[in-house]
Amino acid sequence: MSQPLVGMDLTDLREALGPDQPGYRARQIYQALYRGQAADLVQISTLPVRLRQELTERHALGLPTADRVFESTDGTRRYLLSLADGRTVETVLMPEGERDTICISSQVGCPVDCKFCMTALMGLERSLSAGEIVGQVLFVARENHLRQEGGRLNIVMMGQGEPLLNLANAIKATRLMTDPAGMAISPRRITLSTSGIIPKIEELGREEVRPKLAISLNASTEEQRRELMPITRKYHLAELLDACHRYPLRPWEKLTFEYVMLKGVNDTDADARRVVKLLANLNAKVNLIALNPGPGIPFSTPLKERVESFQAIVRRAMPCFVRRPRGLDVFAACGQLKRMETGLVQVG
Ligand code: SAH
Ligand code: SF4
Repeated sequence: MSQPLVGMDLTDLREALGPDQPGYRARQIYQALYRGQAADLVQISTLPVRLRQELTERHALGLPTADRVFESTDGTRRYLLSLADGRTVETVLMPEGERDTICISSQVGCPVDCKFCMTALMGLERSLSAGEIVGQVLFVARENHLRQEGGRLNIVMMGQGEPLLNLANAIKATRLMTDPAGMAISPRRITLSTSGIIPKIEELGREEVRPKLAISLNASTEEQRRELMPITRKYHLAELLDACHRYPLRPWEKLTFEYVMLKGVNDTDADARRVVKLLANLNAKVNLIALNPGPGIPFSTPLKERVESFQAIVRRAMPCFVRRPRGLDVFAACGQLKRMETGLVQVG
């Protein structure tokens, strides 16, 4: 079989259809895939039956299927999704009032060896294609009858993987997600989070269509960051901050810095003051994340008092929020995505 249809842009679809089909056919398929949330080629009723049959013979649709679904008591759903080659990857839906956030993966596993993250324990199995990245959004949106329009849907590339080590596919996926003729999600509602792959941050900055950028800082000194995030040996903290200073922010944009707080390691007031210094003169905001624990992670969650004190110090200099953990009981929270086959309540 040739390429799956989900992941194709209009040009790819025109090519797949060949010169004998009228030009509008590609657009019809594009709209059915990305706007109509088609679950099956046969459902695309705007197409002649013959063409639907031909397409079915030649192409898979390319949407994932749900292997398992785990539902948290807080409403968060963790999906273990099956890909065409049988590998599985995780996607998390976090409903919150009028707003829904889908946390998507960019790779199966992750090659970056952060010491506090369960995904790191998997190593890298492979990168996802653009179709597999957008497929997660299409699947979860359809399963949960989510509306793409009206700014209710937020996408964060914060699941398994380091998206900047799969930049071409992350960008193609972003173009598909933001296309007004298709999924129509505003780039302001898509965030890509990176451990700090400096040359790729620069490449991302040159893209015309790109998500907002979040950087996982996680430490307040070069040495501490090197211990916690060995990638720092290659991409030094000082140079990462230089790249942040050069990064071409759009007028409405701030750089987000994530900071995972580890008890007794990087959670002191002195750390908070150093973070303020490091980020001085950047148009930045800070998201604090108290460590989500898990098997194999040699750190513990900081005391509430530490998190509050840290936040109070940073907030004097820039916006600083504490990220509420979502889906902790089903291993759906930040850093917990390691294809855990367990969950408190299994609904699927
Ligand atoms: N690889 C990318 C995106 C996925 S990780 C990155 O590292 O940025 C998303 C966020 O989860 C990162 O900010 C990371 O620092 C954080 N994280 C990882 N492990 C965690 C844990 N055990 N508890 C809380 N946050 C964690
Ligand atoms: Fe990979 Fe991000 Fe986990 Fe680090 S925190 S191992 S970069 S997924």
